[in-house]
Amino acid sequence: MVNTETKAGSAEVVLGRMEKHDHEEVLFCFDRATGLKAIIAIHDTTLGPALGGTRMWPYATEAEALQDVLRLSRGMTYKSSLAGLDLGGGKAVIIGDARTQKTEAMFRRFGQFVDSLNGRYITAEDVGMSTTEMVNILKETKNVAGLPEEMGGSGDPSPVTAYGVYCGMKAAAKTAYGSDDLSGRKVSIQGAGNVGKGLVALLVKDGASVFLTDIHDDKLAAIKAEFPAITLVKPEEVYDLDVDIYSPCALGATVNDDTLKRLKCSVIAGAANNQLADEGVHGKAVMKKGILYAPDFLINAGGIINCAWERKGYNRKAALNQTEGIYATALRIFKASAELAIPTYLAANQAAEHRISSIREAGLRF
Ligand code: NAD
Repeated sequence: MVNTETKAGSAEVVLGRMEKHDHEEVLFCFDRATGLKAIIAIHDTTLGPALGGTRMWPYATEAEALQDVLRLSRGMTYKSSLAGLDLGGGKAVIIGDARTQKTEAMFRRFGQFVDSLNGRYITAEDVGMSTTEMVNILKETKNVAGLPEEMGGSGDPSPVTAYGVYCGMKAAAKTAYGSDDLSGRKVSIQGAGNVGKGLVALLVKDGASVFLTDIHDDKLAAIKAEFPAITLVKPEEVYDLDVDIYSPCALGATVNDDTLKRLKCSVIAGAANNQLADEGVHGKAVMKKGILYAPDFLINAGGIINCAWERKGYNRKAALNQTEGIYATALRIFKASAELAIPTYLAANQAAEHRISSIREAGLRF
């Protein structure tokens, strides 16, 4: 269903794009009084309500915003399916400048649009959003997740995400080296942010040799002060290091034509979304190079698992236990990838699709 008034001919542009990846619903939200321009995309609700954050970004064109929300909402379907959650995939984008255009009224109006979907879409924080906006959305709808602890939510998901990445990395080590023991393994981490910091702590505890980089020296210095044994490196050096494992925890698209010529690792396992610059091309290229790639949406699911627990009555220990399941899922995906001789991202996609179609075919959909 498309809830929009469109010019003659343009409906095919939207519906055609929805048809390509089976998006269920796209809601275009416009409000003159508050200046709100938003798009909410619900990709698939077979497994449960579509959960995914709202991103505020100054998209140059509506087409760009639509493209982003369709891509991101589909990604959420796969992530939640693979994590075994009873959640579907959705996402929202607000077109605008997060530094200058936010008002209480705009986000309350946006909350009303979310509410109009009657729980089919649950929003959360994403790029450009902060607690202030979540408070305003919450005034108009209860369909909000991932709230800060002081608002009765589950708080910062990053430590849980870091734990999931660590579990996925261990599964990759087990597959690549025959042992999941990370002591003595050389691991480079790109990004000393919330997830990177948590990952450093887990790896140092295990006795790994950690090489850390970031574009902000103050972040590096703070982590080095806490973990003196780690080695700091310059941002561009990270691709040339002689390490066993490369862990992208900053940006997307860092596995590309250029970096693949330089990377010497045998495992890639990190938190950043969309690490493969072009899934089809670089998913195959890593495989050809003998690098085991742990699909990002598989091993960075700790955050969404944490969010899902908020809805059941938050329990950090239970969220961490479920996140530990990433280890077994990753082993299963690596095995399928080897047996079928397909890239790991494709094996992960197929497993996510299989769970959804089996629930749908059994008539058990949400
Ligand atoms: P963050 O913003 O706290 O940290 C990212 C860090 O990367 C920052 O310190 C930044 O300075 C650094 N950085 C940016 N460009 C860089 C570059 N070129 N080289 C080196 N460092 C660079 O983000 P985060 O919460 O730690 O998340 C890390 C990644 O994981 C992001 O891509 C995020 O989308 C993804 N992710 C995070 C979570 C979560 O729970 N936080 C969940 C799923 C996925």
